[in-house]
Amino acid sequence: MKISKQDALRWFTFFAALPEDQPLGCRQQEIALAVFSQIELAAEARFERLKADIPGLKGLGPGPSTLYVGPEEHFPGGCKSCLLGTGLSAVRKTNRCNARCPFCYDYGVLDAIPPIGEGLWEIGGGKYREEDLPLLFTLQGKPTGIAYVYLEPFMEIEKYYGIIRRFHEAGVHQHLYTNGLNAGEENLRALGEAGLDEIRFNLGASDVSDRVIEAMRTARKYIPQVGIETPMTREFEARFHEKKDRILAAGPDFINCAELHLNENNLPNYLGENLYFYRMGYLSPVFSREITLRLMKEAAEEGWPLVVHDCSNRTKFARDLNQAKKEGGWFGRTSYGCELPGYPWEAFLPVLEDPDFPFLEEEELPRGYRPGEIVL
Ligand code: SF4
Repeated sequence: MKISKQDALRWFTFFAALPEDQPLGCRQQEIALAVFSQIELAAEARFERLKADIPGLKGLGPGPSTLYVGPEEHFPGGCKSCLLGTGLSAVRKTNRCNARCPFCYDYGVLDAIPPIGEGLWEIGGGKYREEDLPLLFTLQGKPTGIAYVYLEPFMEIEKYYGIIRRFHEAGVHQHLYTNGLNAGEENLRALGEAGLDEIRFNLGASDVSDRVIEAMRTARKYIPQVGIETPMTREFEARFHEKKDRILAAGPDFINCAELHLNENNLPNYLGENLYFYRMGYLSPVFSREITLRLMKEAAEEGWPLVVHDCSNRTKFARDLNQAKKEGGWFGRTSYGCELPGYPWEAFLPVLEDPDFPFLEEEELPRGYRPGEIVL
């Protein structure tokens, strides 16, 4: 059903006015899914046009799982492990942050994130002390890499040195995310000495502050790979260009362009934007991937000495398929899916009202699905 934008708008306006707990009938669901499909196809067509304009665009992993430009030797080891190795393997510790980013998945609940526990680390969903790692390695083998995720590790970075040393001795690639606000000479040196392989600065979290750019330059002295990983937002794009020379001079190996995706917490900060669902899983503003692809084009045309690559919804989709296969899952198994409790009908009205976002093909609705007919 290639529903027209006009019919889509009428139906979504109707769905948005229904009481929240009223489920859609089967045909109404067909209509809703046809609308999401039309929006997704139109968004993907825009991305394809932008991709076609990027000189020397390359792909990594099956699919390919991610796209990039620039010298492959700078491609982050952590992403290779995540996409081609044993998966992301998240390690969690710190449950606090010193920033309040509008794009944060925990926006509005940052002070209510459950603690992991005194002396404990959450690894793959289980709780461990540092001393349990040898047991874990013996019984379950070693992952190709692990990533320190969960809010801001520099809130208590001294707790990380010991565990980093143990993973390093075991030969496991380690990368850590930070907003960089508390990063300085001393703690960056200590992380390097402990054996951290890679550090990623979320530059967007500090509105691309000079202090964090400086921290990136300092990190270069101690940590083998230094990069930027931040969600692609309009604010970041503008600030990046104001400070582009300074950022590139700090010498990052890569810019990982994360496609912003929305959950219940951060969605209210992006109402009014054109949104789309990727394979009925992640919900994103269309602008985010467009910014990624524009940045790649600029990097390729100007020959930046670093890798610019995408961590798009498709990349996460591929990452989960890889992980499920490595875990011995059945054909088609994935944990990729929608993070919202229901469909936010109203949030889709702007994209349906935008005259600059045409659907690729439109058809008249079949009999029995038209507004005014009883459709359940
Ligand atoms: S720095 Fe990271 S954890 Fe902290 S508010 Fe921003 S996105 Fe959230």
